[in-house]
Order: sequence, then structure tokens, then C-alpha cells
Amino acid sequence: MLDPFGKKARKIIEDFGGIEAFLERIPGYIGIDEVLERVTWDGEPPEEVLNAEEWRDLMTFYALLGALALSPYGFEMELVRDKNAEIYLAKLRNAENLEETSLHVKRISEGEIPEKDRLILEKSRHKELSEEDRRKLRIEYKMWLRHFILLWEGSLKDVYIRNSWAYLRRGDLLNLWKKAFERNLERAVNMLYDVRDELPEFYSALREKLSEVAREKFKERIEAMGSVGAQPLRPDLFPPCVKKALEGVGSGMRNYAITVLLTSFLSYARICPNPPRRDVRIKDCVEDLSIIEREILPLIIEAGNRCRPPLFEDQPNEIKNIWYHLGFGFTDKPSLEDSGNSTWYFPPNCDKIRANAPDLCRPDRFCRGIKNPLTYYLRRLYLERGEGGE
Ligand code: SF4
Repeated sequence: MLDPFGKKARKIIEDFGGIEAFLERIPGYIGIDEVLERVTWDGEPPEEVLNAEEWRDLMTFYALLGALALSPYGFEMELVRDKNAEIYLAKLRNAENLEETSLHVKRISEGEIPEKDRLILEKSRHKELSEEDRRKLRIEYKMWLRHFILLWEGSLKDVYIRNSWAYLRRGDLLNLWKKAFERNLERAVNMLYDVRDELPEFYSALREKLSEVAREKFKERIEAMGSVGAQPLRPDLFPPCVKKALEGVGSGMRNYAITVLLTSFLSYARICPNPPRRDVRIKDCVEDLSIIEREILPLIIEAGNRCRPPLFEDQPNEIKNIWYHLGFGFTDKPSLEDSGNSTWYFPPNCDKIRANAPDLCRPDRFCRGIKNPLTYYLRRLYLERGEGGE
């Protein structure tokens, strides 16, 4: 397979009944060790990975995406993204035709570029150039300007543009492809995040193994950063809906904004940003309640006090509801052992927030493709670490 997000790949996935059905079938065809071969190599991508049959290539790649949906925006994502970009780039470098990729490109036809322009662009009169250099300078493809500008990060002055097409050399195209691949990968992981609880057990086991490989691979960076799990909150990177809830809201939205959204978001973001499983409890992640009592509850109570009218003044029992949403049952004096008496509510998805409290959702550019405020936050942390390439 030349591009796991290209037309051909999409057709294979559709024939399986769509992405969810495809992910369900994968464990019946391939094993975890085979999937890990895509991320455990050094130097050049292994021949058996490069030459795998198309369906096998697609399955091993999408298996990794399924595992990433359980753990988005961590070192695992960086590992999968970089190793697989190299695998596909190695194939694309040798490919005859790049029209099959997810990029909307066409091969240019004879005479399409005026000869005098071609002479300049391809430096045809520079006799000193080697055959290899000439090949690199050759303009081979064109891409619609409106697709091109979404991916191009340089100046438009550096590009030959004619009749709303950008004309490209193979090297430019491969750089654009890498950018598109990274975006497509992120988009797919966010899409799968929505269905992560329905994925077969295979993906949890794969995620465990993938985390081991990533921890080993990025050992030094992880040690330099400290923990990659629980870490101090970064309110500057919170999504707009959470920032708005923190400012306090009017009476119609108070309970939803404070008890449902803030309580779940702040607790997961601080204690367990990437929960290993659905039924995780706070006592699985911390040894005492000090983080909740000293860092999380004060933020929730202050936001409640900023509401109009203040939430806890006319609803003093709402504090018990906060503990209930944290998984301690309906109480105002919990101990760590009470964790698990109720469900630790996960932050609601964006579509739920928009349905229940539309005024909270004021998307910014980082919300693009995001399905849950917690993944927004993980994404911002990931970009801050310089891993997202944005
Ligand atoms: S898109 Fe999602 S994360 Fe962004 S503001 Fe709306 S609800 Fe929050």
C-alpha cells in the first residue's frame, strides 16, 4: 500500500464495512508482534514491512491507530507517526506514480508549462548539473491551489503557479505528503477516540506493548520531563469551553458547566490524562486525596462561586454531587477507599457539550477535528512539547 489514507486504502476499508468494522476484523488476521514490527526498527524500514501485501500493510497500520485511540497524544503517537511516515516515504520515493496518494495531485502533460518557464524552473541550460540533480528539478505534478495552500508552509513566491494550479517537483510533493499524513493520522485517531470503548481487547494489549516500546525509545526525554501521566495543570492550554466554565456561568448552565464538565475535565487532566481503561478509579491513580483537595476542588469551588448566582450558596448539596462525579458516591466526607462507589465521570464529548450548554463551545483553531475537551488538552500539551509539527 502506497498511502494508508489514499483512495485505494479507503476502498478496502469500505469493503470491510467501514473503519469500525475493519478494526474489529483485524485481530482475526494479524498478531501483535507483527504490528510492532512497524515501530521497532532502526536505520532503514525492514524489507518485510516494505513488501507486505496491501491488506496486511493496511491492517498492521490501522491496528496501531486503534491502539493510539486509547492513548492519543503521547509518545506512542510520535513513535507511530514517525516510523510509519518513514515506511510510506520509502515506498513513495520508489513509486512510479504519486497520483494514488491522498494528495489531490495530477501528473502534468507535455507542453503544459511554457518552454521558457520550464527552462528556468528546471535549470535546463545549466550543463554542470548531474542527471540526479536534473531529476530532482523536474516539475512532474500539479496540485489545485486551494488544496495546496492548506499544506504548504513556505512562501508562495517559491512556487510556480498557473491557472490555479501549483506545479511541483517530486521532493516538494513528498514534503506535502508527510504533512498530510500527519494530519490524517491525527484526524483518524480523534475519530477512533469516539469508539475506543467498543474496540476489541486486542487494542488494549497492543497499546500496552506500544507504550513499552515508546518508553524505551524516548527514555531520555521522558526522564528529563518527569512523569508523562499525572502532571501539574496548564490552564493556558485548556479548551475554550473549560476556560469559559472556569470564569463562572449563568444559572441555566451552572450545574452542567461546573459539576459535569469542570469536575470531570480537571480531575482527568490532572490525575489521569490518558486512562488505561474505561472503569479506572481515582484510587488506581493516586495514593491519597491531597491532589483533589488542594488542587482540583478549589478550582471547582472558585468557578462555582463565580457563577451568577454562586452555585454552592443556593445549592450547598452540590458539593456532594461533585464527589459523586469523581466516583466517591454521594458524600461530602470521602476517604480514598470510597473511590469506586460511583462512576468517575469522563469529560463529555464536544457534541454533548454543544447540545447541553451551547454557549460554552466557542471553538478555536485547536478544536479542529477534536471530539472531546480532554483530547484538546492532550493535543496542546503534545504541540507544546514540539511533537505535533504545527
Ligand atoms: S469544540 Fe470541543 S473542546 Fe472546543 S470549545 Fe467546543 S466543546 Fe470545547
